[in-house]
Amino acid sequence: MTPPRFKRILLKLSGEVLMGEGGLAIDPAVTARVAQEIADVKAQGYELCIVVGGGNIFRGLAAATKGFERATADYMGMLATVMNALAVQNALEQIGVDTRVQSAIPMAAVCEPFIRRRAERHLEKGRVVIFAAGVGSPYFTTDSGAALRAAEMKCDALFKGTSVDGVYDADPKKVATAKRYDSVTYDEVLAKNLKVMDASAIALCRDNDIPIVVFNIREHGNFADVLAGRGISTIVQ
Ligand code: UDP
Repeated sequence: MTPPRFKRILLKLSGEVLMGEGGLAIDPAVTARVAQEIADVKAQGYELCIVVGGGNIFRGLAAATKGFERATADYMGMLATVMNALAVQNALEQIGVDTRVQSAIPMAAVCEPFIRRRAERHLEKGRVVIFAAGVGSPYFTTDSGAALRAAEMKCDALFKGTSVDGVYDADPKKVATAKRYDSVTYDEVLAKNLKVMDASAIALCRDNDIPIVVFNIREHGNFADVLAGRGISTIVQ
């Protein structure tokens, strides 16, 4: 049997994957389902780091267009990611997965601060490490946080778990003929401005040779299938 291509994975969870039908920002049932997908992969022996987004609660850029000061709005967005991180931690621990949350903005009463070597130790002990607050600075996104942590933690790949099944040449919700890529290069993503992650995150992954796998995490079994080379996804490499 060929060994799996990736052993240590950074999973980027967009905030929207925790949302429910009724507009609930963090839906406990939906979050529990996502946690189960993560637990199934963890049980197969993968080492997992998670970076959570906050777009289900607050997006700095969107708020800035409505009159918020940008940096303040971004800090609010980062705080939103901490709430999501705690929700994911809670859901994972309820099904027996040991986790630690580390925030790029220190919040001693709530979670650990980000300390790379400590995160490494958590992984060695078999824990899932959930990174919150992106890179800890405004004007960035959690995609950049995911690329940065993937590089720092020496992850073999960045898996972007969303509610679409890959990268398309046009918006599949608007263009019926939109085609999904199986594989696409970093430079093509940047040149065509394909909606994968923001440009700085793509460039960071490219410069550090970290493949990006975009897949639908809300589809049961898909995360494990994609890791096994079966599921539907797009790989950027
Ligand atoms: N954010 C930030 N710096 C970071 C990460 C996030 O300022 O390093 C803010 C930014 O306002 C962003 C919000 O936090 O809009 C929520 O994160 P993001 O939009 O990346 O979440 P996602 O789209 O993945 O749910």
